[in-house]
Amino acid sequence: MSDTVTESGGRPVPQAMKAMVFERVGDPLRLMDLEMPRCGPGQVLVRVAACGVCRTDLHIVDGELREPELPLVLGHEIVGAIVELGPEVDNLAIGQRIGIPWLGWTCGDCEYCAGGRENLCSRARFTGYQIAGGYAEYTLADARYCFPIPESFSDFEAAPLLCAGLIGFRSLRMTQGARRLGLYGFGAAAHIVAQVAQHQGSEIYAFTRPGDREGQAFATRLGAVWAGDSDALPPEELDAAILFAPVGALLPLSLRAVRKAGIVVCAGIHMSEIPAFSYDLLWGERVVRSVANLTRKDGEEFLELAPHVPVTSQIEVLPLTQANEALRRLRFGEIEGAAVLDTQSEQGARATP
Ligand SMILES: [Zn+2]
Ligand SMILES: [Zn+2]
Repeated sequence: MSDTVTESGGRPVPQAMKAMVFERVGDPLRLMDLEMPRCGPGQVLVRVAACGVCRTDLHIVDGELREPELPLVLGHEIVGAIVELGPEVDNLAIGQRIGIPWLGWTCGDCEYCAGGRENLCSRARFTGYQIAGGYAEYTLADARYCFPIPESFSDFEAAPLLCAGLIGFRSLRMTQGARRLGLYGFGAAAHIVAQVAQHQGSEIYAFTRPGDREGQAFATRLGAVWAGDSDALPPEELDAAILFAPVGALLPLSLRAVRKAGIVVCAGIHMSEIPAFSYDLLWGERVVRSVANLTRKDGEEFLELAPHVPVTSQIEVLPLTQANEALRRLRFGEIEGAAVLDTQSEQGARATP
């Protein structure tokens, strides 16, 4: 790379960067020095300020999602500032703060892309999965898939909006304006969706792991009218439910909780085996559907709406070097709200593995 390249503040872009790298299922992420990536046509180089830790990252390190490009830098809830523009980028500027989401590239001409459903593109490539992500000091992104970030959010607050918020928002729309909405699993996505849904006039019924009184108290503080164990029945029949916890056994439980013609949306990218259940639970025109990925339109609409709700992200910030600890705490339900990595902290930049 050329040492004449400078960031917007005049600071040179270094030759190397720190990243937490996923090499093999079963191994912890490893802190490594990687060569600084350089922009190709249509790309931007971003100095990462914050990167959210998503449940999907756990599915990747556990080998439940089978197509990661290894070795891999995880992370698809990225907020940072552009430090370099590749050729042919005309929609973004040096210094601009942007968000980089899970959807990193689509083919643009399959039937799904052509029909406004690029989230279903069969050739789509995803950030922090097939494209290096944000558990790093810098990352590259295709300029067409980045979003400007509303000013009212700090870098750390904005990070969880980029997947938990966005895919939660897409899931919420699939519930078609449910007045009584159940949320199964009250973590990063649910705590944002609960705010948006209440803004739109819904009542929230929050379901947590049985006995998770702290999670239930968190939901109540965010306005839920009822919070209880996932195997309990709510006091009222629900119009719809969204399953954020990747637990197949929740599907029949949630069908039991929704009224006739109620909708159950499975929002996760992976779910454990769904147990057999009686057709009675689906009878009465109940609907079960999944939500896959996001479209750029979802992102634009959600980021437009979020400051008006206004969404408040509950976050726990950890340095980049503690990515393994962030993943561990997420796995055991020890994060209230969303975990976010500080990718520029002193500790993140200097600590050894
Ligand atoms: Zn396509
Ligand atoms: Zn995600």
